[in-house]
Amino acid sequence: MSVSKSDIGKVLIDLGINKKPVCVHSSLSSFGWIDGGAETIVQGFLNEECTLLVPTFSDAFSVFPPEHLRPSQNGCGDYSWLTNDNSKEMNYIYSPTSNEVDIEMGAIPKTILRLKNRLRGNHPLNSFTAIGSYAEELISKQAPLNVYAPLKAIAELGGYVVLMGVNFNRLTLIHLAEQMAGRNLFRRWAKDSKGLTIEVEVGGCSEGFIKLQDVLMPVTKKVKVGQSEWNVLDVNSMLKISENAIRNNPMITHCGDYRCDRCNDAVKGGPILA
Ligand SMILES: [Zn+2]
Repeated sequence: MSVSKSDIGKVLIDLGINKKPVCVHSSLSSFGWIDGGAETIVQGFLNEECTLLVPTFSDAFSVFPPEHLRPSQNGCGDYSWLTNDNSKEMNYIYSPTSNEVDIEMGAIPKTILRLKNRLRGNHPLNSFTAIGSYAEELISKQAPLNVYAPLKAIAELGGYVVLMGVNFNRLTLIHLAEQMAGRNLFRRWAKDSKGLTIEVEVGGCSEGFIKLQDVLMPVTKKVKVGQSEWNVLDVNSMLKISENAIRNNPMITHCGDYRCDRCNDAVKGGPILA
């Protein structure tokens, strides 16, 4: 049976997360067939006065780094790859009014971007977008060198995160926990509004985050909505547990591929910044 807006509403009330800010990482196909598609899910949340926060990353805006913006231990190896293929560089200029988004972000972020009152953050590569009464508070502080301001804000507001048919390797909040545990975030590059190349903060490899699933189990509620399996976590609890787990065992975030420059450098503390 297809999931309806009121089914979503009932789940949100049962979970006690109606009226709250909720960060969603999602796979629409996890629901099977759904009448109205992504709009049904989004409206189900908005009808219960949730504020939705979603990642709307946009790698198309990335550019290659000038020589003076290449920190070491930056998940880039020795930057020798730069000489290989510079032809992809597009030099687009990002704006929060843009609806450009990576295809992997999925149908729900794409649907939210098209809504009239959505707010999108000021980050060319890893913006977040929000809709609902807390949208301004969540989005307003995002900046090229404050990529996770929306995640810090949702923690301050006592919000929640829902993994909707996706695994813990999609839980971007663990990148914030890495930063809280003392790691520097990686630097990548994009154009600012005037066309100058600037550094921007981004998260690294997240494939190892699956390993945090066990330590986060005590604060994870599991619920099935139609065919979609949701993991629902209180943001403050999951951040605190993740931060401690990373401090105690930095390798817990490593994806296991010994050639992964990003994981190897993250475990050492991330880029060396001037
Ligand atoms: Zn990795």
